[in-house]
Amino acid sequence: MPDWRNWCGSVRCRPSRIVRPSRVQEVADALEGTGRVRPVGAGHSSSALARSDHTLVDLTGLDRIVGIDRTRGVVRVEGGIAMRTLTAWLARRGLLLRHIGTSWYPTVAGATATGTHGSGVRWGSVSDGDSLRGLSLVTAAGERLDLAAEREADTATLAAARTHLGALGLIVEADLRVDEGAYLEVHHRPLDLDALFDPGLREAHEHFEGWWFPQTRRCVGVTRSVVGAPGRLRRPLPRYVRRVVGEDLPLTLAFSAIRRRPARAPALLDRLARLAARPGTAVGRWDRMLVGPRWLRATSMELALPEHEGREALRRVAELETETSAPSLHLPVNVRWVRADRGAWMSPAAGRDTVFLDFAWWSGMPGAAAALRRIEDALYPLGARHHWGKVGFRNPVDRYPDFERWNAVRARLDPRGRFLNGFLERLLAGRPLVDGAATPSYR
Ligand SMILES: Cc1cc2nc3c(=O)[nH]c(=O)nc-3n(C[C@H](O)[C@H](O)[C@H](O)COP(=O)(O)OP(=O)(O)OC[C@H]3O[C@@H](n4cnc5c(N)ncnc54)[C@H](O)[C@@H]3O)c2cc1C
Repeated sequence: MPDWRNWCGSVRCRPSRIVRPSRVQEVADALEGTGRVRPVGAGHSSSALARSDHTLVDLTGLDRIVGIDRTRGVVRVEGGIAMRTLTAWLARRGLLLRHIGTSWYPTVAGATATGTHGSGVRWGSVSDGDSLRGLSLVTAAGERLDLAAEREADTATLAAARTHLGALGLIVEADLRVDEGAYLEVHHRPLDLDALFDPGLREAHEHFEGWWFPQTRRCVGVTRSVVGAPGRLRRPLPRYVRRVVGEDLPLTLAFSAIRRRPARAPALLDRLARLAARPGTAVGRWDRMLVGPRWLRATSMELALPEHEGREALRRVAELETETSAPSLHLPVNVRWVRADRGAWMSPAAGRDTVFLDFAWWSGMPGAAAALRRIEDALYPLGARHHWGKVGFRNPVDRYPDFERWNAVRARLDPRGRFLNGFLERLLAGRPLVDGAATPSYR
């Protein structure tokens, strides 16, 4: 039985067969003579969404740009194209995407499957109706289905397909909105917890995100604004070097020190926060300033909450930390905002302005699952929904007013449940995504 490894080389599942079509025309053939099938992109999700014991269809071979329509402001791409390739291609042409996450590995179809997002109250996630203007998929019956935002008859199917969870078909092409712009100015500043949640900051900037250093009140605020071509480009270090040397390496070193001597955690985190918050500005090509790699292997649970609950949520988490004898959060908590997603029924940001809180643990840290469960328990009453591609324990379908409509579209496109796996069966049956006290295996 072959094994399928994810982006960092870990075995994620052992499907009975792996198929890798490299052209759209070959995708329907991948479904022939098979029973259950699961599509996979870059395997960047740490939830069990993309796992399969049956046939796994790896769609990363569909990685072409199909065409660009500058008048409509739309780029058509194949579903398996990596964000890294697409963002660089667009930036070279003076175009940008506003609704994306900050990792360069995910594929476009994988990102839309889970409602992948960045941070900026003017924009929704990549699945938002303004962002994802059309999709083409191959259904369970092997037929091609083209959906367009401009066609009224497609509205409901598209609202289901925009955050598809890999359950509606194999996404072969997608239309994404693009805007003019090539450069971003990025500014870091120190903030305290109350200032981080001041609406003025996030409303004044194109992108604004924050990092809270647990066991302290210190935060770092990062603003990003689209700027014209700078006269003289103050070239920042390449994104890879900045992330690895400037962020991942100090965090890994500090984290190792904290693991050895937990009592020193508050002092170390305080020092890290001061280092990270040194004010600074850099200008560069937008793709290099926004998306990048991650060297630090972390397991994370990201919860989407109504925007107004963000401050209260972090207060509850800080309280939890003081209640437990060994404080457990060591990596900075990422705080991001997006405006309500429209026309994407299963997006974690569907129908409400949202704050995302991302709690990350260094992979391999003992006790991580128990700590994540405690946080989930504390924040669930505030209306939390999970990021579909990250850790989650409870069944979240009661959080989605349009879940039944989504499931009806799913059942229409896949009546025999060929695209289901264990994760989706649990979801549809209303069972917890992870049983009882079980520790989920993420990487
Ligand atoms: C280091 C790191 C950084 C991250 N940063 C962010 C971030 O900034 N913002 C954010 O919101 N998320 C972030 N994520 C989460 C990530 O963006 C999502 O998990 C995303 O879904 C991964 O895309 P993928 O191509 O790897 O999809 P996979 O993990 O391979 O699959 C995800 C889902 O998509 C389905 N799928 C994939 N391709 C297709 C296809 N062609 N047709 C149909 N279904 C398909 C799969 O079946 C599965 O259900 C991050 C994750 C990591 C590990």
